[in-house]
Parts: sequence; C-alpha cells; structure tokens
Amino acid sequence: MRRHRNQGGYRGELLPIRQVARRIRDAARERGWAICELTRQGEHPIWQLSKPPTDPVRHPRRIYISAGIHGDEPAGPLAALQLVEEHRWPAAVEIHLFPCLNPAGMMDNRREGLEGIDYNRDYRNPKTALVRAHRGWLDRQPDYDVALLLHEDWEADGFYLYELNTSGRMSTAADVTRGVGQVCPVLKATQADGWPVTHGVVRPDVVPATRPDWPEALYLSEEKTDLCYTFEAPSDFELPIRVNALVTAVNAAIRHLASESS
Ligand SMILES: [Zn+2]
Repeated sequence: MRRHRNQGGYRGELLPIRQVARRIRDAARERGWAICELTRQGEHPIWQLSKPPTDPVRHPRRIYISAGIHGDEPAGPLAALQLVEEHRWPAAVEIHLFPCLNPAGMMDNRREGLEGIDYNRDYRNPKTALVRAHRGWLDRQPDYDVALLLHEDWEADGFYLYELNTSGRMSTAADVTRGVGQVCPVLKATQADGWPVTHGVVRPDVVPATRPDWPEALYLSEEKTDLCYTFEAPSDFELPIRVNALVTAVNAAIRHLASESS
C-alpha cells in the first residue's frame, strides 16, 4: 500500500484547490452553514465555515477544525470536503471549520505560504497577515471543547496523532487510532519528529514559554481549548486512504465528545 514515492518531501497528487475550495463552500452553503471570507491570500479567499447546532435545546459542544495550513498536504482539504458533504454531525455540536488555510501553497505543493514562511510556526508573534487575521478571528471566539487539526506527514509509515490535553480531559486518542486502523495503517515507528510515539499517539512534553515558533496547535492549546488533536495522515499512501483516515479520525473524536456530554 505504501508507494515509496516521497523522497525528501511529498511527491504525490496535487490538489485543484480552487475547485475544491468552491465545492466545500457550496456544499456548506447547501447544508445551511454560515460562510465568511476571513481574508485573502493573494487571489485566494480564505473561507471560514460555521455549522450551528441542529438541536438548539442542549448546550452545544463547540468544535474547531482546520486543514490545509501546509500546502504539501492535500488530504486535509479533501477530508474537509467529505465531512461537509456527508453531513454526519451529532445534533448538539457547533462546528467552526477552516477548510484550507494555505491555498497558494496547495497550488505549488509548497509547505509554506506566499511569504515563504511556515504559517504553522507563526502563531506566537505572527509575522504574516494571514496568521494575524486567523489569530484575530480566534481571539473573538469563545473557547472550544476540542480542536482538530488535519495534517499529513510525508515520511510516516502510518497515521499518528498529537494530543495536547492540558487539564486531564478524557482522551479520545485510543478511539481515534482504533477507528483509523480499520482504514489506514497506524504508525509503527516509535519516533515522529523527535517525539516518542506509542500506538500512534504522541503526547509532546512542550513548554510553550520556551518556544518562539508556536504552531497553530500550541496557540489553541494555550488560549482556546484544553484538548487539541493534530492528526497526521501518511502521505506516502494513496490519497483516498489518507482522506479516509482523516475523516475517520474526525468522526471518531466528535462521536467521543458527543457521548461524553450526553
Ligand atoms: Zn502539516
């Protein structure tokens, strides 16, 4: 199943991001989501999509999802498209989704944005207008019950995730890796990006104050949520497998959260 095509970086399929972004926006609109253009990245609109809870009686669980911050990771926006089209959300959840934060990078299979800066290292003191706009938007939101960030790793031999769980919440990591294991291999390696991995789960021991270059996850974990997951699909596998892995991971995490509240 592994293609061994990725040498020194992602060498797989590229995404027609303009069409994909429009399809996500249109599918969301048809299903009653609110749509807003947060900002623009060159010619590309950066969409922010919100699904209100369909059950207004219960206290909604607030879920944040983002994808496509790295332009060489096409499975994230495609997973966002599938999630919006399938529309299988529990009734009492409110979703805030950024389906693609770096469309210009997607055009060129480039990790960084137009400025040559990795947006996912720019969340502490943002240098880029895009991350400033994104942080400004986040700062105006109430806290989230969980944040789910969709990524890919070109070197990985399987799916894995990072968990930032700052107040001892019940972990959904085992549900996620069990579910994903049905559709995609889970990482066998015991190290990822320098962190120890156990059964596809990384719990990084980070001290945010000592890090000058916060990724989106660290900012969210410090400011907006006590439970943040970064899902990493293995981009040396076929694209449908990776998309399925991310969709399965999101659905498993949301089901777990919804059951926790009922
Ligand atoms: Zn990434």
